[in-house]
Amino acid sequence: MSGEVDIAIIGAGAAGIAAARRAQDYGLSFALLEARDRIGGRCHTDTDTLGVTWDRGAHWLHSAAVNPLTHMAEALGHPYLKRESFIDRTLHLGSRLATEAEKADYQRAIDAAFEAVDALGEKGLDVPVAEAHDRGSRWYRLIEHLHEAISAFPPERISALDLYRYYDSGENWPLIRGYGALVEALGSHLPVSLGTPVTAVDWSGRGVAVETPKGRVRAKAVIVTVSTNVLARGLIRFSPVLPSAMQRALDGVPTGVANKVAIKFSRDVFGLPDTSYASFMDERDPARHALSFQIRPFGQELAIAYLGGRFAEEMEGQGEAAMIDMATSALADMFGSSIRGAVEGAVATGWGADPYALGAYSSALPGHAEDRLRLAEPVGERIFLAGEAVHPSWFSTVQGAFLSGRDAVERACLAIGHCSC
Ligand SMILES: Cc1cc2nc3c(=O)[nH]c(=O)nc-3n(C[C@H](O)[C@H](O)[C@H](O)COP(=O)(O)OP(=O)(O)OC[C@H]3O[C@@H](n4cnc5c(N)ncnc54)[C@H](O)[C@@H]3O)c2cc1C
Repeated sequence: MSGEVDIAIIGAGAAGIAAARRAQDYGLSFALLEARDRIGGRCHTDTDTLGVTWDRGAHWLHSAAVNPLTHMAEALGHPYLKRESFIDRTLHLGSRLATEAEKADYQRAIDAAFEAVDALGEKGLDVPVAEAHDRGSRWYRLIEHLHEAISAFPPERISALDLYRYYDSGENWPLIRGYGALVEALGSHLPVSLGTPVTAVDWSGRGVAVETPKGRVRAKAVIVTVSTNVLARGLIRFSPVLPSAMQRALDGVPTGVANKVAIKFSRDVFGLPDTSYASFMDERDPARHALSFQIRPFGQELAIAYLGGRFAEEMEGQGEAAMIDMATSALADMFGSSIRGAVEGAVATGWGADPYALGAYSSALPGHAEDRLRLAEPVGERIFLAGEAVHPSWFSTVQGAFLSGRDAVERACLAIGHCSC
């Protein structure tokens, strides 16, 4: 493991893979160091646990028509489902379907809610998105759920200005073989050291010295792609410590929690077309959280519940069995209790406690939208952060992580005076 390279890259998720690919293009020597025993990070397609294909992490090509990974998916033979919108879904109010009038009312409420958030952002107001909403609205629980799914935090902890800066073309196309499988394919030819958690980065002298249990790598510069929570919690020790402005920026853009519960069935219990989407809000019980589901993705007998924000964190704290029970109960209300007899297996993710992610994706806290821009500032002309949190307008996505990894190499190249880039 020990040696000397131009660039050390910490983490082989989307950002680290993009950085390594670009470094390779430029003829830079590099060491790609990954703590897990696999590449892909928060992109991970699971084909083993339930005997079907589902993504534990990223699933949709967001802003798909302009997402650079869409073209890479085509080139690598990873098909995707081009569809209008994933907002078009069935809406279940407890154990009954919403009427068309209720659906239209809900859609109007969603549109108005997100327009109100944009209006705050347009004015440059770095305030909680909660200020844009009427908590007394009939549809508030679903609006809260949408915010928690998009930003991984509850509305009181999401900066309206940060969310306003997010670019969304509105196309969300799911990858049939999984986003994790695509990212893995993009990194499959790269030399990577798996099972190599970086414990420390010493930048007190020239260049950097990167410590791992397998040895020390010396480099002219380091690209750090781990999540903001991993960095903010000091899981990689920097000497000297990172500048206080950078530490404050990491605290201002934490990684929130989102989780999925995948439930496998022995037969079609839903009677919906392949790859449907369904939302659930129980109007009989206001304490119950709203949820959304993928139903029978690509014809597989599977339902996947999506949980975000505080609810995702609380449920994760209660454990996998409680998560599965909660999601199954919602499905039983939506489609009838007989579905329980067809359950073949179920599994839930735990991104909040995952030691190498400590969350799902980032969102700036109210008052901290500018902190995101600070994350891209180099430290000592040799430490460059990359990863989803660093991208100014495509944060929380795979394409944002990927582009930030490429960009970090450009900046590192300039800093170390590598002439061919
Ligand atoms: C449930 C869920 C659903 C999502 N849905 C979507 C979606 O549909 N579309 C979308 O675009 N995005 C989605 N995302 C977000 C997307 O997955 C992330 O934004 C993106 O994958 C982040 O990539 P990254 O390279 O920045 O970070 P990561 O993927 O976290 O990569 C960082 C790497 O660093 C490694 N690491 C950590 N600590 C160390 C250490 N000390 N030493 C060495 N290596 C270390 C990690 O193991 C990891 O491999 C979702 C995420 C989750 C969790």
